[in-house]
Amino acid sequence: MTRPVADIIAGLGTGIHIDGRWQDAASGKTFEVENPATGHPIATLADGGPDDAQRAIDSAAAHQKQWAATPARERSEILRRAYELLMERADEIALVMTTEMGKPLAEARGEVAYGAEFFRWFAEEAVRIRGDARRSPDGKSRFIVTQEPVGPCILITPWNFPMAMVSRKIGPAIAAGCTMVYKPANLTPLTSMFVVDILREAGLPDGVLSVVCTKSAGSVVEPWIDSGKARKLSFTGSTGVGKLLLEQCARGVLRTSMELGGNAPFIVCEDADMDVAVNAVMAAKMRNMGEACTAANRILVHRSVLDEFSEKLTARMSGLIVGDGAADGTDVGPLVERKAVEKVEQLVGDAVNRGAEVLCGGERPTGDGYFYPPTVLTGVAPDAEMMSTEIFGPVAALTPFDTDDEAVELANDTEFGLVSYVMTESVDRGFTMAERLEAGMVGFNTGLVSNPAAPFGGIKQSGLGREGGLTGIEEFLESKYISIPVR
Ligand code: NAP
Repeated sequence: MTRPVADIIAGLGTGIHIDGRWQDAASGKTFEVENPATGHPIATLADGGPDDAQRAIDSAAAHQKQWAATPARERSEILRRAYELLMERADEIALVMTTEMGKPLAEARGEVAYGAEFFRWFAEEAVRIRGDARRSPDGKSRFIVTQEPVGPCILITPWNFPMAMVSRKIGPAIAAGCTMVYKPANLTPLTSMFVVDILREAGLPDGVLSVVCTKSAGSVVEPWIDSGKARKLSFTGSTGVGKLLLEQCARGVLRTSMELGGNAPFIVCEDADMDVAVNAVMAAKMRNMGEACTAANRILVHRSVLDEFSEKLTARMSGLIVGDGAADGTDVGPLVERKAVEKVEQLVGDAVNRGAEVLCGGERPTGDGYFYPPTVLTGVAPDAEMMSTEIFGPVAALTPFDTDDEAVELANDTEFGLVSYVMTESVDRGFTMAERLEAGMVGFNTGLVSNPAAPFGGIKQSGLGREGGLTGIEEFLESKYISIPVR
């Protein structure tokens, strides 16, 4: 039976983990983590600063050489054990995640399985790091290319997927042989601490992964970037913060991986199977209460099926049960914080002022917690703010189109390019549209593209690099080419 969440949280670390030991902040400062379903505090953690950051990066640098020399099989088996331990404790970690972040328990369990799978996937990849050996085209040299760990890495994650966003980074970093310093989001640090304890139990040596939780991100991350000891930064979060970190990383020419914001178009053609399309948009819109980089932000529907699609979608959305994610039967939990609800409310108000019609929802409830109801808007004008900004809430914004060219033009009319979705029963039409859509990923008759075995990532201002898949490990490897003359 799952222990009460307060007991699980009481058994977690302090928020700062360096050299294999949970510890207090050098400054003695702390900060509170709250439950978005109630607005009440659930934990107090060490609030790290520059001194803690320095000790963490010193430790990562000191352990890099030995960790890189650890046989790949050993690194692989640590990941495999961590995968198994996470699956064994899935109920407890899901409960912690729901309590700090809000998503319903069933979704939190789904994230544990998805996040743990990155450990299993990269356990399998660790022992298959390849090189290359060839003769030069003129026949005078032998080229030997080896792959080496890039070195100590800085990992930074957002609050919306507190486990999967970091296992997607820790998995390949361990597989490649990199040490790490890690700063979780201040809204959801507890899940990360669970993951750290599991990795220790799985045999991760002291010093390979240090964690510094903080309320002032810049005071920890900037010293890491400027330390001269980190060789790579892997960031998931907003495009604005990503751009700032790119500038900072330029000072020391750090390698970067950037998983940034999205503004996903979801295209419903007139020949789509309406049930498939509605199921897919529910997955793409409502997963995580709409707080996902992959969330369907602009739902473009062929004018001839707009009424049918909006009726079916409105029926599904208005049937969802909103409540505490930890309660039985909840479909839609709270948003992560008060600011998030205010932002959604403001975006809906703006769309309505520009002519959108509210088909359901649209009214923020009173009472405790940061709730916003599932909302469907139709006739959202192209200049409404939500067409160019991530809504990050349970609001489906429908806009009609008349031709495929118009749909593709509307879809691509954004500086983002993470994911696009297209719904049609014609393979040819769907494939042609997928090729024309400016995105790193396309869901064709599906609203769910995330899979540890596939390369996740965006183009344009949605990011640089890919996580997961066959190329995910390369983000943490450097090629070294050795030239040997043929004598
Ligand atoms: P965010 O505000 O950019 O924060 C992300 C992380 O960066 C947090 O750990 C945050 O710390 C830290 N941070 C903030 N300011 C910083 C600074 N000056 N220096 C160093 N680190 C700093 O994003 P968020 O609100 O947590 O997450 C939502 C965003 O993430 C959305 O735009 C979403 O699309 C994007 N996202 C992208 C992907 C993807 O794979 N492409 C996946 C998930 C989310 P604090 O928590 O302490 O502020």
